[in-house]
Amino acid sequence: MKAIIDEKRIYQLLSETSRPSHERVEDVLATGAEKKGLNSEEVAVLINANDPDQLKKIFDTASWIKQEIYGERLVLFAPLYVSDHCVNDCAYCNFHSTNENHRRRALSQSEVAAETKCLIDMGHKRVLLEFGEDPDRNTIDYICDSIRTIYSVKSGNGNIRRVNINIAATTVENYRRLKKEDIGTYQLFQETYHRETFEAMHKGPKADYERQLTAHDRAREAGLDDMGLGVLFGLYDWHFEVLALVQHADYMEKVLGVGPHTISVPRFRPAPGVAFSPKKYEVSDEDFLKLIAILRIAVPYTGMIISTREAPAVRAKAFQLGISQASAASVTEVGGYVERRQLEPRNAVAQEPRNPGTQEHVSGGQFIGADDRPVDEVINSVLDEGLIPSFCTACYRIGRTGTHFMEIAKPGDIHNFCRPNAILTFAEYLEDYGSAEAKEKGVKLIEHYLAKIDSPKLKEETLIRLAQIRSGKRDLYF
Ligand code: SAM
Ligand code: SF4
Repeated sequence: MKAIIDEKRIYQLLSETSRPSHERVEDVLATGAEKKGLNSEEVAVLINANDPDQLKKIFDTASWIKQEIYGERLVLFAPLYVSDHCVNDCAYCNFHSTNENHRRRALSQSEVAAETKCLIDMGHKRVLLEFGEDPDRNTIDYICDSIRTIYSVKSGNGNIRRVNINIAATTVENYRRLKKEDIGTYQLFQETYHRETFEAMHKGPKADYERQLTAHDRAREAGLDDMGLGVLFGLYDWHFEVLALVQHADYMEKVLGVGPHTISVPRFRPAPGVAFSPKKYEVSDEDFLKLIAILRIAVPYTGMIISTREAPAVRAKAFQLGISQASAASVTEVGGYVERRQLEPRNAVAQEPRNPGTQEHVSGGQFIGADDRPVDEVINSVLDEGLIPSFCTACYRIGRTGTHFMEIAKPGDIHNFCRPNAILTFAEYLEDYGSAEAKEKGVKLIEHYLAKIDSPKLKEETLIRLAQIRSGKRDLYF
C-alpha cells in the first residue's frame, strides 16, 4: 500500500501531545500565523488543546488567516444530483442500494437542462455534480453528456460557468474523459480514513479502502490538477480524521505535486432510509468549529467547503473561521429543483423563506439538510456579516489552477484577482436576481470593498467593468 495514511503515527501523535502547555499551543499558533501551514505534530497539539483560553486563541488565529488569505469573499454554489442509482450500500446514505423504499431516478439530458435552468434562475454560476455509483446506468458517457448539457444551458443573462464533480472513485481512463470536459474541481471524500470503520460502513465496490484512497493519484495521472478531499464527520473520531486529512494533503503536495484545492467538511445528517447514527463519534457544534479552525491554520491555501447540512448559525460562525465556499438553497434529491419550483408560486424560490431544517417537500434526498433558505436570504445574511458573496469562476477559465494557482495564492497575490472578481460577479447577481434588500446592502458593501483595492489602475478597471455590467454586459473578470 502507498504510504498515504499512517494510522499508527496518528495515534502516537495524539497521545504524545495530550494536554499541551499554553506555551506549546502559543508556539504552534505563532508558526500557523506565518501562513505556511503546520506539520502533523503541530496539528495534534491544536487538536488536544481544550482549555477555553487555548480554544479562543485557535479561533482568533484561524479567523485572522482566513481574513489575510481569503479576505471578505465567500464563493457560493449548489449541488446538482443527476442520478441516485447506486450499487453501493453505504450505511449513512439514503441512496444505499438496499434501500428499497427509495424511488430512484436518472435524469434525461432535457431534465438535466431543466434542473440547470432552475439553478441559473436562482443566480447560481457554479454547480457540484453528484451521481451514485452504478457502472451500467451512470456511465462515463452519461456523466460527460450531463456536463456538456449543463454548460450549454442559457437562461436570461445567466449560465453555469463551472462544473465541479463528485463521483465515485474511478479509472485513469475515466478521469481523462472528465478532464476533456473542462471540469472544475474533482472532489472525492474518503468518508473515513480509519480503515476498519471504512470497511464496516461500506459494501460494494466502494468498500475497497485502497481504491478510494488512491483515487486522487489516478485523477492526477489523468492530468487533473484541481482536486478536493473530504471526510464525512460522525463516522469515526474527528481527532483522527483531521490528522489523516492533513497527511493526505501533505502526500498530495509532495508526491502528486499539487495539494488539495479544497477540503469539504460534511457532517452526518439523518435521512429517511438510514438506520446509522453517529453515537460516540457524533461531532458537537463546538468541535466542528474547532476542527474547521484547525484545518484553516494547518492548510491555509486550501479552500474549505461547507454545505447546507449545517444550520445557518453554524455556517455563519464557520465563514469567519475559515470556510471559503458554501452551497446555498441546495436540494439533494434527483430532479429536486424543478420539483421545488413546481410546488411554489413563480419566483418564490428567490423570495419565500421556508422552515430551516425541514426540506419538507424533498423527502427523497440523500440526507435532510439543515439550511433550507433561498439564495437571496443566504446572501442577505452573508452581507450582514460583512462578507461579499462571490460567483467567480475566473481562475480555472484562464488556467490559474493546480500549481499555477498555488504559486499565485501563496504569496497572497490572490487578492489582486479575487476582490475585483467577487465584486463584479456579485454586481451581476444584484442586477439579474437581487431582491431590493440585497441590492441596498450589496451596493454599499461593494463601495466599501472597492475602496480597498490598492492598485489605482485595477480600481479604475473594476469601475469600468461595473459600469459595463450595469449597461448589460456579463461575465467580466480579471
Ligand atoms: N456517490 C459518490 C460517492 O459516494 O463518492 C458521490 C458523492 S455522494 C452523492 C456525496 C457525499 O455525500 C458522500 O461522499 C458522503 O460524504 C455524503 N453523504 C452521504 N450520506 C450523507 C448523510 N446522511 N449525511 C451527510 N452527508 C452524507
Ligand atoms: Fe452511493 Fe455515494 Fe450514497 Fe454511497 S454515498 S450509497 S456511493 S450515492
